[in-house]
Amino acid sequence: MSSATSHRLQTPGPMGFRFGSRCTGAPHCSQPAVLIASYDYISGVNFNTHERQVCAEHARRFAAKHGLTMPIESRPLLQESKR
Ligand SMILES: [Zn+2]
Repeated sequence: MSSATSHRLQTPGPMGFRFGSRCTGAPHCSQPAVLIASYDYISGVNFNTHERQVCAEHARRFAAKHGLTMPIESRPLLQESKR
């Protein structure tokens, strides 16, 4: 079982993204990052936060997976082709 405790989707702070402007939600995703996805987890006795910057698509997947609402929709999301 996962020990992650809480998940968040946030807009980037005034410093912007720390790892350039691209999505780091997947190894080969090169879409522009729009949000920061993060979660807290406990490793042994340590309390850590894992953070990724994600594009609209990966933000949407993160939100769907963890039951979050999107904080912003700053650009059109990819269209759903399957229904
Ligand atoms: Zn992405």
